[in-house]
Amino acid sequence: MSSVLIVGAGPVGAVCALALQQQGIAVQVIEAQPEDARADSRTLALSHGARLILERLGVWDRLDPVTPITRIHVSQRGALGVARLSADEVKVPALGYVLPYATLTTALKQVLADAAIAIDYGVAVERIESAADAATLHRADGRSDSAPLVVVADGGRGEAVPTPKFERDYDQMGVVCDVQTELPHANQAYERFTPEGPAALLPKGEHYALVWTASREDAERIVQLTDAEFLAALYRHFGGRQGLFLQASPRKAFPLKLVYVGSEAADRVVRIGNAAQTLHPVAGQGFNIGLRDAWELAALCGESPTGEIGSAAMLAAYARGRRVDVLGGVGFTDFLVRVFSNDIGPLRHARGLGLLALEVLPPLKSFVARRMMFGARG
Ligand SMILES: Cc1cc2nc3c(=O)[nH]c(=O)nc-3n(C[C@H](O)[C@H](O)[C@H](O)COP(=O)(O)OP(=O)(O)OC[C@H]3O[C@@H](n4cnc5c(N)ncnc54)[C@H](O)[C@@H]3O)c2cc1C
Repeated sequence: MSSVLIVGAGPVGAVCALALQQQGIAVQVIEAQPEDARADSRTLALSHGARLILERLGVWDRLDPVTPITRIHVSQRGALGVARLSADEVKVPALGYVLPYATLTTALKQVLADAAIAIDYGVAVERIESAADAATLHRADGRSDSAPLVVVADGGRGEAVPTPKFERDYDQMGVVCDVQTELPHANQAYERFTPEGPAALLPKGEHYALVWTASREDAERIVQLTDAEFLAALYRHFGGRQGLFLQASPRKAFPLKLVYVGSEAADRVVRIGNAAQTLHPVAGQGFNIGLRDAWELAALCGESPTGEIGSAAMLAAYARGRRVDVLGGVGFTDFLVRVFSNDIGPLRHARGLGLLALEVLPPLKSFVARRMMFGARG
């Protein structure tokens, strides 16, 4: 019997499996998608801290293509205040990295296979039953498996999601696509706050990946625009810092909300990654917090005597250890969305002053950069 069963071989479940195996812990993964399923076209922004985790697991060198972000330009539309962060200032090779979700999941699949980690592809877990000394997974193929610890890394998409401790529907959607700009990106990312919500341009290969936040109604309208209408609307929304927008790939929209379920220890079951918290994509925090969940859970399992893996004491220690980082990320993201997505005069000026302070005060800059790279405990 494996010591740990993992539900979901998305990036967080896969990283957890590799990190556990590095700790010498027997692990088995159950993934609903077939092995040859095509990953969706979303883009991920990895922090410098996430790179360090992937390096230690032997995944980083397999990632291609990856585009470094060496500078970030933060501004608000229609008001003063610009802040610029650069990798040189904080003495790291890059502030973050942009890559297709499929690039990461393909590399993880190869490393999992090389490490001979047992993965059952194409089988969904339908139900988890907890007991005092083991939890049991009931699978769609009728089989069941038990282990002293079950890690749920299903991205919050499984059947039995517990009631969230905190939930906020921003009534916003993220419109995503790749765009080509007149000027080369030179590895600079943009985060531009507008009263309708933040818009981000992330350097990705020769192009930019765009995440345009808009109200539900506007987003639905934006995805229906023709290419020419869309490029013109984006220019009006974002401004001309990169010159004209020349081309765009097909647009998709997805709802943005905050769902915090938490990682509180149930009997022998723990939730990590998006299964524990789904964040607004502003500042690219959610995925990186999920990777730290996986890494720290594996480290704690490695430090625990075998008989203690999955015990109430161990899971309580895990939940305690993660609280500052996770709630810090939840609070930071929620603050940015709510304080920046409006056109209230005094707040606009306060935001301008905040951005100015970020621009001119090196300690504040270093604080924000470290938080983006390593989370609330950075
Ligand atoms: C459109 C979009 C854009 C995004 N952009 C960014 C970004 O720029 N930066 C960023 O940091 N984050 C971004 N995110 C968030 C990011 O995708 C998630 O943080 C990340 O995918 C979470 O990884 P995960 O492994 O927890 O979950 P997932 O990636 O969702 O993986 C979960 C896995 O579990 C499997 N699974 C589900 N249910 C079951 C079951 N019952 N049994 C077995 N297996 C199951 C699924 O098939 C899947 O493989 C974006 C999200 C979306 C939707």
